Amino acid sequence: MITTDIKKAKEALINGQLVAIPTETVYGLAGNAFSQIAVEKIFQLKKRPHHNPLIVHIKSAEYLSEIAREIPPMAQKLAHHFWPGPLTLVLKKHEKIQNLVTSGNDTVAVRIPNHQLTLELLQQLDFPLAAPSANPFGSISPTTAEHVYHYFKDELEVILDGGACEMGIESTIIGFENNQAILYRHGSLAIEEIEKIIGPIRYHTHNNETPKAPGMLTRHYAPKTKTYLTDDLTSLIAKFDGQKIGLLIFKNPVKSNHVVHQEILSSAGNYTEAASNLYGSMHHLDKLDLDVIIAQRLPDEHLGKTINDRLERATKNG
Ligand code: AMP
Ligand code: MG
Repeated sequence: MITTDIKKAKEALINGQLVAIPTETVYGLAGNAFSQIAVEKIFQLKKRPHHNPLIVHIKSAEYLSEIAREIPPMAQKLAHHFWPGPLTLVLKKHEKIQNLVTSGNDTVAVRIPNHQLTLELLQQLDFPLAAPSANPFGSISPTTAEHVYHYFKDELEVILDGGACEMGIESTIIGFENNQAILYRHGSLAIEEIEKIIGPIRYHTHNNETPKAPGMLTRHYAPKTKTYLTDDLTSLIAKFDGQKIGLLIFKNPVKSNHVVHQEILSSAGNYTEAASNLYGSMHHLDKLDLDVIIAQRLPDEHLGKTINDRLERATKNG
């Protein structure tokens, strides 16, 4: 059921059921983070491998001490600057946090989402919400209540409708090792913004077998339609001559008779706007029964980096 009624969401969560929640990044598939049954349901419904940990969503920074047992000064500074907001911090976990949530890691990922409805819901609950994105494992993340419904239909009893997600891409994930901040996942908060607060950040070298963060798997965020990423649209369009081609373009439409449909991420060339449109455009292209989707690589700066990261994973095989 799609609803704007927080009471229905609250009841379902208290009863150990799952609820799709709106956030400023993407819709989350939420359950009581302290309930093993609820958390197990998240993995089952998403068909998510158990080695991919979940993010714990909390209502206030004061609540952090119930989730994490060590909060480095750098983490405190970031929480102060960016919460509520699209930044997830990976911290040493409190013993109350079950291994199922953290995939057996000694760390827990935590953030305060910046969406009025979900913040109100969290205020009314006496437990935090574990939530990955509300999509089947590996597919495009949902940025509207309708996207969530399209994936799960009535398998999910409550979808709390908070409109289209403002940022439209998952949170940026930062961890801390030996007093050094490490980027685990590009996201809606540009690295440049984080570095203004705490200085240079190291990039995590990723290992596809045991990812530190689920979004780090090589293939992820993927449309069903075969998708390619390129710097050279003209050549790739020519290569697929005669086929039904859809384009995912940053700002300037392409003149071509071969193309069935073009999704423009931001005609003004604005990265924030482009990020907020990315998954919606991918969902739309995926429904057009195309033979191929060709995506254009963005400049490698600010949220262009995040968008390129998602497009690379969307276009990987295997
Ligand atoms: P999703 O937003 O659907 O990808 O789900 C939650 C995200 O939280 C995953 O992508 C992981 O990257 C991240 N995450 C959760 N727990 C941890 C952890 N202990 N260490 C690193 N990343 C984590
Ligand atoms: Mg996800």
